[in-house]
Amino acid sequence: MGLGMAVDWREGLDAGDLSSEALVRASFERMARLDGQLNAVLSTEEGLSLSLARQADRRLRAGERSSVLGLPVVLKDNLNWTGLPMSCGSRVLGGYRAPYDATVVRRLLEAGAVPVAKANMDEFAMGSSGEYSAFGPTRNPWDTSRVPGGSSSGSIVAVSAGYAPLALGSDTGGSVRLPASFCNVTALKPTYGVLSRYGLTAMASSLDQVGPVAASAADIALALQPMAGRDPLDSTSMDLPGRERLFPLGPAQLKGLRIGVPVDYFGEGLEAGSRQLLEAALQVFADQGAELREVRLPHTRFAIDTYYLLCTSEVSSNLSRFDGVRFGHRVEAGTLPGMISESRDAGLGDEVKRRILLGTFCLSKGYYDAFYLKALKARTLITRDFDEAFASVDLLATPVSPGVAFPFGARTTDPLAMYLADAYTVPASLAGLPCLSMPAGLTAGLPVGIQLIGPALSDVKLLEAAHAFQSLTRHHLQTPPLPA
Ligand code: GLN
Repeated sequence: MGLGMAVDWREGLDAGDLSSEALVRASFERMARLDGQLNAVLSTEEGLSLSLARQADRRLRAGERSSVLGLPVVLKDNLNWTGLPMSCGSRVLGGYRAPYDATVVRRLLEAGAVPVAKANMDEFAMGSSGEYSAFGPTRNPWDTSRVPGGSSSGSIVAVSAGYAPLALGSDTGGSVRLPASFCNVTALKPTYGVLSRYGLTAMASSLDQVGPVAASAADIALALQPMAGRDPLDSTSMDLPGRERLFPLGPAQLKGLRIGVPVDYFGEGLEAGSRQLLEAALQVFADQGAELREVRLPHTRFAIDTYYLLCTSEVSSNLSRFDGVRFGHRVEAGTLPGMISESRDAGLGDEVKRRILLGTFCLSKGYYDAFYLKALKARTLITRDFDEAFASVDLLATPVSPGVAFPFGARTTDPLAMYLADAYTVPASLAGLPCLSMPAGLTAGLPVGIQLIGPALSDVKLLEAAHAFQSLTRHHLQTPPLPA
């Protein structure tokens, strides 16, 4: 099957040349063949997926049409899909099965998409490499001695390795964009609020968004179309302007498009090979008449500190529900406090514990003002930088990561080194802005991504700009060196 383009499969399904059942069977064959090595998948329910596929085929034959009808999709294991296990990559949820569908999952099912697997991930979406899952690391299909990036490691690898043309990840501070850049796929973090968070396990609620993943921007648009928009079950959700332009997605007019290039993102930390590819990508836009303008985002240097203070504070509160009382892993210890603390101690991994401790510290009396409140203020300054930049440009183009996928173990002993991988992805997250990562070429055989960031609710325009780039380049068509 290989890396199929969802838009091509869409046409094949609508023309009656393909069946959803055949596509879903091909997904399962590919997973069976490759996942022993890649470890991108945590659970499947083949019978259920096949029956959903046959249902989609009946709807297609009856003349029904939707952007995702009959297309296989992989779901990150922090999204509820009724009846399937949901582990969030953690032992603490041992035995938990989702009793309901997340809104994004329900909307995909209603539109006829066929979920085929729950994907591996860094525990509770905390991580940048895919190494922090309690169920073993996921491997990068481009080089299996390297990390795929995280935390949506399995969702990204599922698309990169051709298990399915579409996947959902989640992105709090870069978790679909960073692995997309490491594995040569395209991934969007929508404007905060465009996708409902109902049924997405909360990590840091003021930052979390579901992020669609695919081989191209046009494919992402297929997935976004049925999911986007206000949901009464999530009070922060809202409608996406221009949603009707997603299917089919057209390319943006690049002539006259003002693209801001933030000097603060192209400093010393950026590896030479990545820099070269980014410059070449910017030239593609310029050759079509886009105007490149240098801009400054001076508070970028505070972004990592700000993000890790706010994220850990929210984590410490959100994760208090995993206590062994109503669901998940329980260690019987005689007393209630003993049961709770031993269940948490046995069930949660080191990175999760580190963040709960840090966050609890930030929120405690005497430190709240010095850390949490100060970080909130820095978040406002970072957001204002973007507002000022968008007064003179239509979008921003930046690196996604300082370098390419790193070898296993390279950063696990030094949490700070791991956090620094997020330097270019956390600022847009703090500002709640739409941002995407798309392939910009290979350096020494490894993929490099370019990030586009737009003003709030410009998601459709951002995808149109990415689609224009992908109509002019072939980077996103390059597939990893896996058996066909
Ligand atoms: N790598 C970042 C972190 O560990 C982002 C994670 C995410 O976006 N879920 O917090």
